[in-house]
Amino acid sequence: MRCLLARGGAKRNPGLGIQRSVSLQGQYVPKKPISRSLRVRLSGLASLVKVLECLAVGLSVSHLSKHFEMGSHRVEVLRNISMEMKRSESVAVTGPSGSGKSTLLHCLGTLTPPSSGTVQIEDENPFLLPEPKLAKFRNRVVGFVFQDHHLLPQYSVLENTLMPALAFPTPGLDVEQRARELLHRVGLSHRLDYRPGLLSGGERQRVAVARALMNSPRLLLCDEPTGNLDLSNAEMVADLLFELHEEELTILIVVTHSQALADRFARRYEIREGRLSREA
Ligand code: ADP
Ligand code: MG
Repeated sequence: MRCLLARGGAKRNPGLGIQRSVSLQGQYVPKKPISRSLRVRLSGLASLVKVLECLAVGLSVSHLSKHFEMGSHRVEVLRNISMEMKRSESVAVTGPSGSGKSTLLHCLGTLTPPSSGTVQIEDENPFLLPEPKLAKFRNRVVGFVFQDHHLLPQYSVLENTLMPALAFPTPGLDVEQRARELLHRVGLSHRLDYRPGLLSGGERQRVAVARALMNSPRLLLCDEPTGNLDLSNAEMVADLLFELHEEELTILIVVTHSQALADRFARRYEIREGRLSREA
């Protein structure tokens, strides 16, 4: 499936000193084996690109406020929230019940528009997109894990995990393979055909994590992901979230009541009466 860039042979690249051809997907592929010193240079370059990517801002929230109208009454929920996260960062958000944690995640995850202020994800203000494009953006860019797994009971573990990829299919992508790999990663290869009702609470939440990562989201938002789990399952799910956040290079935001979980994050915020403040 490779076609040569130049007729009769590969073009010579004076900068790199290697012959190369180009794949049908437009990626350059070496025609001759790459020398060891060049491999070292290339892998150094790849690491540099990865570091730069990690440092890029992936989420920027500016003066976000949110209120709800309840008849003649106005409920102020989020007040003037600003924060910025790089692509590789993770944060925990704690706060008392009713302080606005879920509402904040809904605004960041593009489920609820802010009343004022802006949310930028990967240089895009999703709330400026018309509804069908917003739904597609959300499907591609955001992964959610909720306290109650929200798995569909009539579908198998594999089908539940595949679900986000079926909404807006990407031609040529082997989504089933990706789902199987993720389920292997969360330790559930032996439960692919199970319905959620036959799984333990921890297993269900691990499926929810795999499903959230199905479309390789830039933003992984977790609302009390371990709230319904016993200690050892909570630890297992938390370990997975951290590992997959690093492997998949997603921004990870976890809302939690668990101090033990929050303490695992270097960066922590607290919400009180809709105001977000960074913990020391
Ligand atoms: P938390 O997740 O911190 O427990 P929430 O974000 O769910 O808090 O809710 C914060 C406040 O906003 C609560 O007082 C809740 O009743 C109110 N609230 C949330 N959603 C709505 C809504 N759709 N309409 C009116 N009030 C809402
Ligand atoms: Mg909540």
